[in-house]
Amino acid sequence: NKVIEINNITKFYHVGTEVVKALQGVSITIKRGEYVAIMGPSGSGKSTLMNMIGALDTPTGGQYILNGTDVSHLTDDSLAEIRNKEIGFVFQTFNLLPRYTALENAMLPLIYAGVPKHDRIKRGEEVMEKVGLTNRMQHRPNEMSGGQRQRVAVARALVNRPSIILADEPTGNLDSKTSVDIMRLFDEIHQAGNTIILVTHEEDIAQHAHRIIRLRDGLVESDAINERVEQPV
Ligand code: ADP
Ligand code: ADP
Repeated sequence: NKVIEINNITKFYHVGTEVVKALQGVSITIKRGEYVAIMGPSGSGKSTLMNMIGALDTPTGGQYILNGTDVSHLTDDSLAEIRNKEIGFVFQTFNLLPRYTALENAMLPLIYAGVPKHDRIKRGEEVMEKVGLTNRMQHRPNEMSGGQRQRVAVARALVNRPSIILADEPTGNLDSKTSVDIMRLFDEIHQAGNTIILVTHEEDIAQHAHRIIRLRDGLVESDAINERVEQPV
């Protein structure tokens, strides 16, 4: 039932002769179906923690178990493999490929996963429907609004049916009305049973989550249920 078990992880960067202690002993457990926001001021370690959770990098010390697999000491190739299987990423800058249609962008993770073409199209169309873009499947990113592009990115994050959706400042490039639309989409995706981890410095965005973890100086300052949303029974 636990998708994430982080036990006392540290991450140190060596910059010249200095050691930057970006994470100084962080422990977090996240269960399937949770909706968690990670907050904290600039430099508190959010990006570093996101890189750990997303299996983009390995910790200096401690242990990280992702959906039952200890990924703390894996090689880059093994990390990439587990990342493609377990994590759906949504970034501030959408990161869509400009020459591909919206549907093709949404299907990309299935190519890496070796899913046959017929199934790719079927599953691509399914996720495009989930994000409300059935009428934009053949459009290219530059023919779409920022909100629509982010919906394509959410579709791409869902298509592999990952154990976690990891979103890094997903509304950072959107106006406030579009941000509300995208956050409603995350609410729906959570209600459909997905585990969501949201990294943000915006309080009103974090308020969509059911649990808020606050970092300070590479440590968990607080980790609490968000009283403002109705908790699942
Ligand atoms: P946040 O995302 O909360 O702004 P970061 O995780 O980016 O925090 O940074 C935490 C600390 O680690 C900062 O002092 C930052 O300068 C440092 N840091 C982050 N990444 C690196 C890196 N690749 N090399 C050296 N120092 C880094
Ligand atoms: P954020 O917008 O989350 O604060 P940052 O600007 O802190 O992002 O970091 C962007 C990227 O640069 C991250 O991948 C982080 O690890 C890296 N980084 C941050 N600080 C440093 C640093 N002092 N030296 C090298 N890389 C860094």
